[in-house]
Amino acid sequence: MSSGVSRQRAEQCFRLSSLQDPRANLDEAEKWARAVQERAARQQYLRDGMLMSELSRPSRMMLLVNPQSGKGQALTLYNNHIQRMLNEAGVTHTLVITERQNHARELVKEADLSQWGALVIMSGDGLLFEVINGLLERPDWEEAIRTPLGILPSGSGNALAASIHHYSGSSPVSSEELLVSCGFLLCQGLVARMDLVSIHLSTGPRLFSFLSLAWGFVADVDIESEKYRHVGAARFTVGTLVRLASLRVYKGKLAYLPATEDYSKESTPSRSDTKALAGPPDSLLLPLDQQLPSDWVVVQEEDFVLMLAMYQSHLAEDLLAAPDATSDDGVIHLFYVRAGISRAALLKLFLAMEKGAHLATNCQHLVHAKVRALRLQPYSPKGIITVDGEVVEYGPLQAEVHRGLARLITG
Ligand code: ADP
Ligand code: MG
Repeated sequence: MSSGVSRQRAEQCFRLSSLQDPRANLDEAEKWARAVQERAARQQYLRDGMLMSELSRPSRMMLLVNPQSGKGQALTLYNNHIQRMLNEAGVTHTLVITERQNHARELVKEADLSQWGALVIMSGDGLLFEVINGLLERPDWEEAIRTPLGILPSGSGNALAASIHHYSGSSPVSSEELLVSCGFLLCQGLVARMDLVSIHLSTGPRLFSFLSLAWGFVADVDIESEKYRHVGAARFTVGTLVRLASLRVYKGKLAYLPATEDYSKESTPSRSDTKALAGPPDSLLLPLDQQLPSDWVVVQEEDFVLMLAMYQSHLAEDLLAAPDATSDDGVIHLFYVRAGISRAALLKLFLAMEKGAHLATNCQHLVHAKVRALRLQPYSPKGIITVDGEVVEYGPLQAEVHRGLARLITG
């Protein structure tokens, strides 16, 4: 279906009656059905990316569903919208219902991945965060992270799903229309690369992030709005309005390594403090307590309203935060808002972000930079930092992008 039109299910029933013998007639009908499916698959070969079927993997998908995600209706949404769509498209899948937090992470960490053509999650972004980190904790992480990943939105934070829909060139939709669109794209089975960002906190192992890193206003809204999850994706709008009323300043030090056009020039690996961990080594980061290399930019201000690093286009279903981001541009889109912005101006920014027009508002307090690595040192002893919408340990951190490390089913 062409872009600009929302995707809807239309049922067409064809009947074949060319032969007298019912068995022979059925054989003939099945031949036609196969021909139509093969024809549809051939058309997809003409486009960019790789088809799932080209990856010489088993075709069965593991579909991990978080029944608690969003308004708690993921299983109903699966039954009403997804099950039949996948079956009709010939996408064989095994349903796995998660029982608790980190269940999916443990499952994919131990799974025999040779059995699975793809790992698809039906939830919000949080469940994919678990799956990606589970894959990168494996001793065979290099192979494991090449497993195609898919997402069907049933959460309250469906930023990656909205990004995939956006990359397909379709006009914005939300909730169940977004789910149907992502189901359709999943059936097409086109696989693209996806950047991941490794994040070092002051203690604990590295995390891998596919979406966002936030501190200040955005992180506070994300976590405070958990209590409005019964309203679904609208929770962020409600949370933004509540937070605006108690707008505050966050103090800290921010620095980044600008992204140059020349990606072929990779800096020498193993300057990092990565020990014998799973996952790729970081090549741009020094230990957190060491001084930054001279090619980093240190932001002069120390008073912020927010810091937001994005590596996909959408921050939420209706927030197009990084309009020109693609899944594998190898870029961290860093935004920060300097202190001194009025409530009205900040609200205007978020309203403009619905259409990705916030940069065009020429707000003097908003800064955007394309970077490959960053370091943040918040000064206040307490606060909230989120990675892909999940709370992580608060404190100094640094991050580096790994271009195209994962595989994403984008349609
Ligand atoms: P939402 O967008 O609705 O918040 P997420 O996918 O982000 O949906 O999931 C929210 C949290 O729930 C994540 O931290 C995830 O790890 C966790 N989770 C996954 N499965 C379950 C489950 N069965 N019960 C409770 N929490 C779960
Ligand atoms: Mg990106």
